[in-house]
Amino acid sequence: MPLKVYNTLTRQKEEFKSIIPNHVGLYVCGPTVYSEPHVGNLRTFSSFDMIYRYLTFLGYKVRYVRNITDAGHLTNERGEGVNRMESQAKLESLEPMEIVQKYTVSFHRIMDAFNTIPPTIEPTATGHIVEQIEMIETLLKNGFAYEVSGSVYFDVKKYNDQHNYGVLSGRNIDELMAGYRDLDGQEEKRNSIDFALWKKASPEHIMQWNSPWGKGFPGWHLECSAMSTKYLGETFDIHGGGMDLKFPHHECEIAQNTGSCKHGGAKYWLHTNMLNFNGQKMSKSLGNSILPMEFVSGNHPLLDKGYAPSVLKFLFLQSHYSSELDINVKGLQDAEKGLKRLMEAVDIVNSLQLTVNSASKTELDSKIESIAAACKECMDDDFNTAKTIGNLFELSTIVNSLKGGQVKPEEISSTGLDLLKATLHNYLFDVFGLRNENAALSNNKLDEAIQVLIGLRKDAKAKKDFVTSDKIRNELGAAGINLKDEKDGGMSWSLS
Ligand code: AMP
Ligand code: ZN
Repeated sequence: MPLKVYNTLTRQKEEFKSIIPNHVGLYVCGPTVYSEPHVGNLRTFSSFDMIYRYLTFLGYKVRYVRNITDAGHLTNERGEGVNRMESQAKLESLEPMEIVQKYTVSFHRIMDAFNTIPPTIEPTATGHIVEQIEMIETLLKNGFAYEVSGSVYFDVKKYNDQHNYGVLSGRNIDELMAGYRDLDGQEEKRNSIDFALWKKASPEHIMQWNSPWGKGFPGWHLECSAMSTKYLGETFDIHGGGMDLKFPHHECEIAQNTGSCKHGGAKYWLHTNMLNFNGQKMSKSLGNSILPMEFVSGNHPLLDKGYAPSVLKFLFLQSHYSSELDINVKGLQDAEKGLKRLMEAVDIVNSLQLTVNSASKTELDSKIESIAAACKECMDDDFNTAKTIGNLFELSTIVNSLKGGQVKPEEISSTGLDLLKATLHNYLFDVFGLRNENAALSNNKLDEAIQVLIGLRKDAKAKKDFVTSDKIRNELGAAGINLKDEKDGGMSWSLS
């Protein structure tokens, strides 16, 4: 079955056909680096991580571009208000670029802790001012933009006469104009719905650049149009982001792209849905905004304890990326149990010593084949991770039956056993990017236990009790744990 994706642009599930065979251009709107990412941001970025991983798993070579918004992000979606980087800089008594650095580093740490793969290109808005200015010049030349006193605005009404502003979000410009009419600070614009491409900077505005229109800074929507075009071309495969970006950010991107080069950018627009906690939108004022690392440490009054990063990811994956997701402590506890069951199945199947049926294909082999095929079918159906997980649980039941003896070794062939192992491994680790944190934990515990034995052996040697010291070394060796004397007098161990 071919891969199908729900395309927000056409409002239907479509067969995915890449522009260049075997290659995919994927652009995801990245973080605004003036604060720590919250767990909602994490859901969006880990959903696109799964999508990137699955495309790679299918054999596509993916150019994955995710930008860093480090300029021009104003508090108001119409391109007015205060620059968030600057107001945070004032609050923390730092340079705006120190704010950018601080939160970019912290964003990367969190993405790493949650085992997401970095994009192949991570361009910044401040590094692409030239490209943004060029795009504004083209829009001015094409008649879709106008300059007023050092600022440049996109002429939405004029654009809409020739194209369709609202093509993505389904919004109607007359209704939008009626809604915007009473808002302040729009005297410069021809129409309330117009958005800023370039804003003239007041002298106290710290982040500003020279341009043909004087000193200023770019509008937020522009960076993604400029950088996606630069790295992926005028037409590329997939553009993603959270549902809240569909309008106005992505609608404006399409208008900018079409207005400058007649192409609307991406063929497929994918949107992840919002994450809530205890039925409420997470917000700092409600006190329910939990940071990703607070989930791990458990250091938050709304949590009962810390949860491994993979538990939170597993909880996300149990819902479709495009469904709204409400999480709570009970959901985390259940996800922890579910993930443990699957990871135990991985450990068991890796250590099973079976004399399997090598003669012929068995009934159980066919069952494993059909579950493995179902995993792929579910993922091909717009990345249905929830249903794929259901199939992985079926595989874990087979593993437990093999271990418990309810299924006899002769009921499975080595090919069937290999497929069982590979399917669990491929989806859990490669596609979902989960980690066997139980295994990591038990490795730590194993190390602690061996260190105790190494200490006892050292004491025995010091007392010239070589019978005990040799016994410890030999019995550990027999259990597959080799001790090695190091030059510094210490002792290391390894598994044979
Ligand atoms: P930001 O850094 O706020 O611009 O957001 C980064 C990404 O996270 C964007 O794609 C947003 O759409 C997405 N996002 C923001 N809030 C949430 C939320 N509560 N749940 C899921 N995604 C979100
Ligand atoms: Zn964007």
